[in-house]
Amino acid sequence: MSIQVTSVSKLYKEQKALNGISFSAKKGEIIGFLGPNGAGKSTMMKILTGFITPNFGDVLVDEIDVLQNPIEAQKTIGYLPEHNPLYAEMYVREYLQFRAQIFKVDKKQIESCIEKVGLTDEAHKKIYQLSKGYQQRVGIAAAILHNPSVLILDEPTTGLDPNQLVEIRKLIKDLGKQKTVLLSTHIMQEVEAICDRVLIIKKGRILKDQSLSILKNSNLQVIVVLFDKIISDNDFKPLFNLTSIQKENESWILTFDAKEDMRPKLFDFAKEKELKILELSTQQKNLETLFREITG
Ligand code: ADP
Repeated sequence: MSIQVTSVSKLYKEQKALNGISFSAKKGEIIGFLGPNGAGKSTMMKILTGFITPNFGDVLVDEIDVLQNPIEAQKTIGYLPEHNPLYAEMYVREYLQFRAQIFKVDKKQIESCIEKVGLTDEAHKKIYQLSKGYQQRVGIAAAILHNPSVLILDEPTTGLDPNQLVEIRKLIKDLGKQKTVLLSTHIMQEVEAICDRVLIIKKGRILKDQSLSILKNSNLQVIVVLFDKIISDNDFKPLFNLTSIQKENESWILTFDAKEDMRPKLFDFAKEKELKILELSTQQKNLETLFREITG
């Protein structure tokens, strides 16, 4: 396993940022670490990279115990922190040379990294002269200079325009062919575009750990229905296969996990309860709906 996290908890005073998280990643997997703000994503990433220590649990990266040997572990990890700290006054190449020197990396690596992340035409410029998308590339180049086998990217696409988004996603996908990548985001489409697996967390707990292909082929149906009378959540008990119930204004958003079409069942249900259906529609089942359902 490239990453093995077992029962990790982290407290910031009374605030429980992580609450017994366990997951693993195989070599060559791109994992989307998804969750609302404050879910604990950055905290988990800082623990994985050895920048902070958990109160409880074990973390192995490339079989190295990060808590016991953080320096050794960091040799196998490339990390792009959330706000991509760069020295804006430095030239791109100069900054990478500086990083190579600090981390005792062979300078020959610099040119190949510049090429790999598509910075060849920008490498002579000062970092502040670059667009946000190219600055992200500098951050990624710095993260892969020492040729790590695991890449940890904390919200690498935040603040990018749509074209830059596509380019950075493509770059991450390419890097993922040789490396294990864990990337945090709160955009489901991003996960859909580049990841093999998704880990959804909320309030420091993992709510879902699943491969994208399984998620995409699930039998979720979302039906929005408006009845003529007010009813409560409990009234839906007779309906089978119902995985979530949400109310939006007067309408109910019902998510079913079933192979058969649930609309006729809903009509039978209404008849039995002496309700009249005023409106009924189905919502496109997609990962965005699923994310809202899981984290909502
Ligand atoms: P995410 O990256 O998913 O947005 P974080 O890991 O940044 O979430 O934060 C998880 C929780 O821990 C949040 O409630 C946040 O306010 C809290 N937190 C994060 N860092 C600190 C810190 N240094 N001190 C106190 N609380 C923190």
